[in-house]
Amino acid sequence: MSDWDVQKSSELYGIEYWGADYFRINSQGNVEASPQGLKGPKIDLMNLVEDLIERGIRMPMLLRFPDIVKSRIDLLTGCFARAIKEYNYQGEYRGVYPIKVNQQRHLVEEIIDHGREHKFGLEAGSKPELLISLAMMDTPDALIICNGFKDPEYIEMALISQKLGRKTIIVVDRMAELEMIVTAAKKLGIRPKIGLRAKLYTPGAGRWAETSGARSKFGLTPSEIVHSLDYLRQQEMLDSLELLHFHIGSQIPSIQSIKMAIREAARTLTEIYNLGGHIRYLDVGGGLGVDYDGSGRSDSSTNYSEQEYANDVVSSLLSICDEKKVPHPHIISESGRSLVAHTSVLIFDVLGMNEVAKKDYQLTEVEKESRLVQDLWDIYQNVNKKNINEFYNDWIEKKRDTQNLYNYGVLSLEQRAKADDLSWAIAFKMSKVAQEAEDAEDILKELQRELSDTYFCNFSVFQSIPDSWALDQLFPVIPIHRHQEEPTRRATLADLTCDSDGHISHFIDTTTGEPSESLPVHSLKPQTSYYMGAFLAGAYQEILGDLHNLFGDTDTVHVSVTEGGYHVDHVVEGDSVTEVLNYVEYSRSELLEKVRRTTEASILRGTLSRSEARLLLKHYEQGLAGYTYLFEPK
Ligand SMILES: *Cc1c(COP(=O)(O)O)cnc(C)c1O
Repeated sequence: MSDWDVQKSSELYGIEYWGADYFRINSQGNVEASPQGLKGPKIDLMNLVEDLIERGIRMPMLLRFPDIVKSRIDLLTGCFARAIKEYNYQGEYRGVYPIKVNQQRHLVEEIIDHGREHKFGLEAGSKPELLISLAMMDTPDALIICNGFKDPEYIEMALISQKLGRKTIIVVDRMAELEMIVTAAKKLGIRPKIGLRAKLYTPGAGRWAETSGARSKFGLTPSEIVHSLDYLRQQEMLDSLELLHFHIGSQIPSIQSIKMAIREAARTLTEIYNLGGHIRYLDVGGGLGVDYDGSGRSDSSTNYSEQEYANDVVSSLLSICDEKKVPHPHIISESGRSLVAHTSVLIFDVLGMNEVAKKDYQLTEVEKESRLVQDLWDIYQNVNKKNINEFYNDWIEKKRDTQNLYNYGVLSLEQRAKADDLSWAIAFKMSKVAQEAEDAEDILKELQRELSDTYFCNFSVFQSIPDSWALDQLFPVIPIHRHQEEPTRRATLADLTCDSDGHISHFIDTTTGEPSESLPVHSLKPQTSYYMGAFLAGAYQEILGDLHNLFGDTDTVHVSVTEGGYHVDHVVEGDSVTEVLNYVEYSRSELLEKVRRTTEASILRGTLSRSEARLLLKHYEQGLAGYTYLFEPK
């Protein structure tokens, strides 16, 4: 037995960094969740998953922990409350949740419920999202912020909602919307609450950098802002202007960009104030990042904490307002990712593997072998820390020779197989040696890439973690059990789709700090399931997910953890095959009818028996009613 332990596993997979207060590895070697934070009750994810499978929940499954949402709301509002107190800031903090980040009804309800005591509001970026907000949001005094493309219908609905007691602010994202708002307000006789979105010149940073800058899609230029103020003054509606908004993009990795953006926006706010626009709210948009890889320095990470974010927003705004003698506005943030990323974990099982490497090799009568095999054998026997660079290059040359000699008809298939097997054994041994050697990082990386197995996994990247495919975003992916054992293999994870892009090949690597193409994993045991979790999957992934190869929504379970147990709040059943076929306009009854007719014809022709026909139709009907993912009884 190796001297492996759960502490080594925690370090290897970096869960100490990205797991925040919610995930860690317990002494049994399983991943454990504490949705209310470190001091709250805990649950062993492996036990939970086994329980849920017994109840009939299917793999893959999405676990959602509503208490994490509550904890994140408390964290964010707490950070702003502390900053406001510390700097003696005169405005309040008012959070709003941008619905687009995850629109699932149960989640939105949980945010409204848990946010009630903090007057947490909603942000809508489209007409459908406004419709959700108007129906669901009943917290007195909470704000509804309307962003996105607007038409008169959207605007009139937002205006009338004020009569229902909603505090709905319409943000002008494009110049044309201002006139639409004024016209609608006059027609309905309702005083609008208007916001202006400023197009900041501060460059964004990270993956979503194009959200800001002079060419960004939304927002008003300085000249358009001046023009808007003139127009509102003419219309005698300057007092309707209540808010200034900006959004420099999502997942901002660096606090410096955030500070620069706040300064630019605060300057604009004070200038508007001096021109007679008495702005009451500064809306700093989204962008508060999540530490997906725990590195503190990549685009998937952040170089600041939530408290530092709140401190910098409050203090930067305060100093500019004080300098220009402008009253402190209330601060709104539209943090979406930071509120919900931690709440969801995708659990999937590994269906099998493709093993590339033979780990060791025995050769008895060396002198009878071909020259090539003898040379390879020599490398295999004698590679060590000192000669690894030289032997690595020799080995690459011998591999090339193997290929050439085979193609020119010198090596037989059997001789080639021998050379191949020996080559893999060399690669394996060399990777061990490279770990010990100095200056062999490049060799090690290359060998690990070549030696990695493929684990076939029961999920679709396109449905469940699309940003892993589309943006190469890193999500922490780790086994949820067996952490007492050393993971002795490395693998890339392939999904169920037939698409060669359907795989995860970007993983956190805590040893180098750079993303790795393969993940340390355990060997598969016969007749035993191996479960993995993709963590921090609660933001953006569910709605961006698509039906590639017709793999649909997974089963979703909302779990509340209590002292000594847990409670299943909701089960949202995943798509059936019939449902995904409906999206692409196939109806169940027509499909069945066609298959039935074909079987009848085959019975008449005598190529199909009646009992075969019955079996075929039974499988066909069961297939239509069933889950889109695989089920393999163990
Ligand atoms: C997408 C978006 C957000 C959410 O950003 P996060 O980085 O997820 O917090 C906030 N505001 C606007 C206008 C957005 O478009």
